[in-house]
Amino acid sequence: MRHDSSNSSSSSSSSSRGRFVVARHPLRAGDVACAERAYASALYPERAGTHCARCLSRADAPVPCPGCAGAAFCSPACRDEAAGSFHRFECRFSEAPTGFGCSQVARLALRMVTVHPRSYFLRLRDRLASPKEDEENGGNEEGKDAYVRVFSLASNNAQRWPEDNFRRALMAALLLKILKAGGYFSGKADISEDDEEEEEEGEPSEEEVFIGRLLLRNLQVLQFNAHEVYESLRGSRRALKPWKSQSIALAVYPRCSYFNHSCMASVGRTFVGDRIVLTCLRPVDQGEELYENYGPTFYMKSVATTLVSLGAHYRWRYQW
Ligand SMILES: [Zn+2]
Ligand SMILES: [Zn+2]
Repeated sequence: MRHDSSNSSSSSSSSSRGRFVVARHPLRAGDVACAERAYASALYPERAGTHCARCLSRADAPVPCPGCAGAAFCSPACRDEAAGSFHRFECRFSEAPTGFGCSQVARLALRMVTVHPRSYFLRLRDRLASPKEDEENGGNEEGKDAYVRVFSLASNNAQRWPEDNFRRALMAALLLKILKAGGYFSGKADISEDDEEEEEEGEPSEEEVFIGRLLLRNLQVLQFNAHEVYESLRGSRRALKPWKSQSIALAVYPRCSYFNHSCMASVGRTFVGDRIVLTCLRPVDQGEELYENYGPTFYMKSVATTLVSLGAHYRWRYQW
């Protein structure tokens, strides 16, 4: 019998080690250590015709958005849910991030805002001002305040170069423009060109500055905490080979992001739609830390190359 995922692991922290995740009870190889849906996900533009923009499932008969050519869905239900959520604000500008040369991280940073109306973030304003108190309990898989948890993920801002901060601030300002044009603040999803000109002239409101800061924080956090969502393709239903993995989206997970990574990982990850499932690769004792893996780099590159590339990306020095 498989353990219930919500009871298999718990996050902890210490001043010397930062945040980490341990097993609540002994786990066997094959047990699920953690499983959860993404707080937000962003499909790669090249997958728009084959996968659902909302749940990331394969869309064998894609249901198009009636308002744009930039999104398709697996079902009318997903289309309608997206139309009442993030796509309401992104529909008119679904091609804009590509035109501006935005990265997938920038698309996801924007989606982390558009999945909720601005009233959601305004309600969390005080808690976001002191997120430490929410580190352990500030949201979960189904938690309505899951943004508090993703907001408080590591951003390593102390190690950033000024140029890095400047570029991300510029990108946050651009994403804020897209939000404004998409009617996120006015409540009008389809504003006229006159309205756009009026908005161009005014100073950003306090609300807009607040949301702009969240966009910047999202860009910083995602650099170290975004998960590549992929699917595995097989040449035949009856054989494991030939096989390849294919990236379909970028996503952020409130609980699974707390797992540290190791070249001697204890869990492997798979995806079902936008749901991540971390499964034990070997037996784990109660209280033992659970480690995620670094992905294909561990198998494809030498140790020396891996250390250099991972250290540069995550801004740390590797420890044996
Ligand atoms: Zn769907
Ligand atoms: Zn649309």
